Amino acid sequence: MDEYQKAAEMIAGSKAVAAFSGAGISAESGIPTFRDPGGLWDQFDPDEVATSGGLLKAVMRKPELIRSFFLQTVEIFEQAQPNPGHVALQVLEEMSLLKTVITQNIDNLHQEAGCTRVLEVHGNLFRGRCLNCGRKQALNKRELLARVKKFFADESGFELGGLLGIMPNCPHCRGLSRPDVVMFGEAVQQMPEAFAAAESCDLMLVLGTSGVVYPAAAIPYQARENRAQIIEINPTDNYYGSISEVYISAPSGQALPKLVDLVKDLL
Ligand SMILES: [Zn+2]
Repeated sequence: MDEYQKAAEMIAGSKAVAAFSGAGISAESGIPTFRDPGGLWDQFDPDEVATSGGLLKAVMRKPELIRSFFLQTVEIFEQAQPNPGHVALQVLEEMSLLKTVITQNIDNLHQEAGCTRVLEVHGNLFRGRCLNCGRKQALNKRELLARVKKFFADESGFELGGLLGIMPNCPHCRGLSRPDVVMFGEAVQQMPEAFAAAESCDLMLVLGTSGVVYPAAAIPYQARENRAQIIEINPTDNYYGSISEVYISAPSGQALPKLVDLVKDLL
């Protein structure tokens, strides 16, 4: 039996599937995996642009670098759409098989594909978090990207204060807000919920993650500990080889739609 058939039978026989996704599934939507060669970290030092302290310093010392980083990032997110892998997960949710998506991605693409229960351990770029009261607010992606673009359009420079003004103020206390993403060195989010989802699933799809960013990378091991079966889909490597029953060496956007079709034939 080939790996696809085996995986489809496991999914069809499962009561609660959880998906654990990483940068690979976003890369298929055109969002580069920042860590890989050719990614943004080849051009920009993450210590400068992906820590809040570094970012503030870089804004003052190297405004042109920051401008270039933001403009490139905006372009990437403007063009990124959910891919067939994201869509296949939504279909699995609609079939009442998939219960939860746990993602390390911050791009909102699982939600844009229609998945309704998404845990985001590294936050969401299109959500604001109030620096004063801590409350969160969902932001309109197009509007936010347009504001960033407009802000950096002027080549003659920008004011640090203006940068903070890109984010809408908190609707509750009018405080300044920041994007609700986990920057390097900051605490991960929703981990208790993610571990609970890992413990209550009987099958976990591990998608496009190299399993190196802890603590999130421990989530599949937690699922395995609680006797969930593991299917890993990744064109690069079988990173979770020690715990996966099935490994499919393909991008999620190819493998998942094929699996969904096979599962439909079985039900
Ligand atoms: Zn507030």
